[in-house]
Amino acid sequence: MPDKTFLDSVGQYFDNAAPHTGLPDGLLKQIKVCNSVYQIYFPVKINGEVQVIEAYRAQHSHHRSPTKGGIRYSNHVNQEEVVALATLMSYKCAIVDVPFGGAKGGVRINPWEYSEADLEKITRRYTTELIRRKFIGPAIDVPAPDYGTGPREMAWIYDTYRSFHPDDINAAGCVTGKPVSQNGVRGRTEATGRGVFYGVREACNQQELMDRLGLNLGIEGKTMVVQGLGNVGSHTATISQDEGGVKIIGVSEVEGAIYSKDGFDIHAVIAHRAEHGSILSFPGVESYGKDDRRSVMEFECDILVPAALENQIDEHNAGNVRAKIIAEAANGPITAAGSTILAERGIVVLPDIYLNAGGVTVSYFEWLKNLSHMRFGRLQKRFDERNYRRIVEQIEETTGKQISDRDRSMIIHGADEIDLVRSGLEETMI
Ligand code: GLU
Repeated sequence: MPDKTFLDSVGQYFDNAAPHTGLPDGLLKQIKVCNSVYQIYFPVKINGEVQVIEAYRAQHSHHRSPTKGGIRYSNHVNQEEVVALATLMSYKCAIVDVPFGGAKGGVRINPWEYSEADLEKITRRYTTELIRRKFIGPAIDVPAPDYGTGPREMAWIYDTYRSFHPDDINAAGCVTGKPVSQNGVRGRTEATGRGVFYGVREACNQQELMDRLGLNLGIEGKTMVVQGLGNVGSHTATISQDEGGVKIIGVSEVEGAIYSKDGFDIHAVIAHRAEHGSILSFPGVESYGKDDRRSVMEFECDILVPAALENQIDEHNAGNVRAKIIAEAANGPITAAGSTILAERGIVVLPDIYLNAGGVTVSYFEWLKNLSHMRFGRLQKRFDERNYRRIVEQIEETTGKQISDRDRSMIIHGADEIDLVRSGLEETMI
């Protein structure tokens, strides 16, 4: 049966898995449905003209709260899409066991067609609408970046929320993915891509799996093709190349795709695109134009990384995929019908709800940091102190001698100071 929509596809995956849980039908139904969806239309004045903006926030499950998930800015946003994405967030949070229900928001705009000032206006108004209906808050629903948004938008959301809740000491926990200088955490921006890399690396370390696929053990030297050089795709590619020794042989972006069987330096491709606005003029590679860009799914490689949008591999092109492993960096890049074909062909899929969960995992630490009002550097310092106290106890136990107060203080505090210097004061204070 061909897939109808993204939501149908997510529902199909659920229905395939549900009988294996042994849970009663009523409970399964409750797990499947999306609890609440807020649809909003609001006016924003752009270049003197009123534009009506369509936006959503879907909260799929309140089984754990707050709810959690990104906000997407894209022309394709619609109610079914945000519901499907919120549903995937619930499963993702459950898999990595962070205490959130799933949610997702979307604003139906092409963010690259608006000025920064207009995007700020839209973001602040959208946030105000969410505040008005209590669809945001550190204990209610905590957005984060997604396709078309980043730390800048999260800073606007935080600032808007804070101005409506001046007495809320936990206000910073209303959104994650904020800039580090605005109560964010280091590592959140690259977290999703880094998680994808770790997941792929671990798969490549499975001897049995590699034997079955006819591949050498380990990630080093594997060939990789990446669809999408946004936040997730670019970090997956650079970390895989730099830390895993992966050979990047193909990438695609909105303008088309490039391929070289000898591979290329992904940093150079990213820099080239930033300078020239396109990957297609990158020297020494085969280029494929806009109409051909889906053919990136058919490039021969060990690891194919769809890192853009949903429904990229379906029943029409799953038969043409020439990768051995597909790493789902995006949310829902393979439809349920596409997935059946890939399974029949022995292609291994590392599923999105596990593979791209690094983002929400680090978001959890950001949220914890915001609610605890602790700088993680300071937590680290306390942790170190406890460790050194334990070391003192162990020395006393094994030697049977008591350490003098002066030496004890040197070991606990002196060592701690050395650590502070070694890791750099900045590092420990943020
Ligand atoms: N948008 C990201 C995702 O799809 C991050 C969600 C979050 O950090 O809350 O997983």
